[in-house]
Amino acid sequence: MIPVEEALERILSRIAVLGDERVALIEALDRVLAEPVVAERDVPPWPNSSMDGYALRAADTGGADPARPARLTLAGQVAAGRLAERPLRPGETFRIFTGAPLPEGADAVIPQEDVTVEGTSVRVPRALRSGDYVRPRGEDMRPGDRLFEPGRALSPADLGVLATVGRSRVAVIRRPVVGILSTGDEIADLGTPIGPGQIPNSNTYSLMGQVRAAGAEPLNLGVARDRQDEIEARLAWGLGADLLISSAGVSVGDHDHVKAALAALGAEQHLWLVDMRPGKPVTFATLPASPKRTLPIFGLPGNPVSAMVTFELFVRPAIRRMSGHARLGRPVRLARALAPIDNPGRRRGYLRVALSEEDGVLGARLTGEQGSGILRSMSAADGLAIVPGDTTVGAGETVPVMLLREF
Ligand code: AMP
Ligand code: MG
Repeated sequence: MIPVEEALERILSRIAVLGDERVALIEALDRVLAEPVVAERDVPPWPNSSMDGYALRAADTGGADPARPARLTLAGQVAAGRLAERPLRPGETFRIFTGAPLPEGADAVIPQEDVTVEGTSVRVPRALRSGDYVRPRGEDMRPGDRLFEPGRALSPADLGVLATVGRSRVAVIRRPVVGILSTGDEIADLGTPIGPGQIPNSNTYSLMGQVRAAGAEPLNLGVARDRQDEIEARLAWGLGADLLISSAGVSVGDHDHVKAALAALGAEQHLWLVDMRPGKPVTFATLPASPKRTLPIFGLPGNPVSAMVTFELFVRPAIRRMSGHARLGRPVRLARALAPIDNPGRRRGYLRVALSEEDGVLGARLTGEQGSGILRSMSAADGLAIVPGDTTVGAGETVPVMLLREF
């Protein structure tokens, strides 16, 4: 059996970053930038007011205090989106609004609530320093500033920065298209009656959800019967995708034809049994889909929880690598076991836990029975506690937990 780390290594060493495409700005969220972005202008383009108030020359308020306020003459106004009609002269003030360009000659603003206005006389009860309540030109960015390098995963704030520099479209790494095939004579898909001896298809839908949550586009290849030719045919439909996933039929039972189908398609297998529970039978193969393109294919186990856990450990990092991300794995945090977490058996356990937080300390508790067919205990899980084989984590002891969702 191959350790998880080595299995991941064998997979990632065969995964390449996809090419790029230009997309509308909002489509770039959580995508990876494929070009550098450099500022060409000052932002803001001119000094402007950070308050609704009065623009003035700080020197005109020298020595002012409540008993001896400076008296300035109200001589104009400047609103956001406008320029002042003329420069400010000594002894004058202009009404000004937040975001409006400072008039030439002015170097400070006093907030409106701090002054007393009588007709055209504005009394300023304190001395201001040059720059008070003024946002200087270029305080956010200057021409030539390198804002982003290729490889950056774009956040909402980044979209705002890109909009600021006028980028309505940006080059990002393409979103992988991931084909998903379920296999098994017993699997009845949504919308078809469940015959005798059949069970509903859940893997297609949990895996499509995981694919989408990983930032990729799922492509449903349906359900193949336990026949090598049918598995081959349906996998062949997906040859245009960037990555393929099948579930079930990878053990050594009489009806397990996925590995043979992969071999018949010409795929080279790099992996099979991995030291983990749930999971263990996981295949990873690569298929030369064209002279320039190698298609990675995962054969995941059929048990609903095993399929999802092996996806998290192996497929998600591969999708993230293809998408250009530098961070491939889910975050791992230390948590305190709130009750014993037992991993019987020699394989490393990835045990479903619910997390809670008290005084900043994470607590972990098993979500229930850990059978690999118990999908509801996966649904209740916030993370997977990673426990060595033949080990019980006692109550109060710490255990690393791979987070499956934001916590
Ligand atoms: P297998 O790997 O073919 O031996 O399947 C292992 C277990 O997973 C069996 O109990 C299958 O019925 C179940 N299984 C396989 N595929 C699916 C699926 N698409 N949805 C739900 N359960 C499945
Ligand atoms: Mg089967």
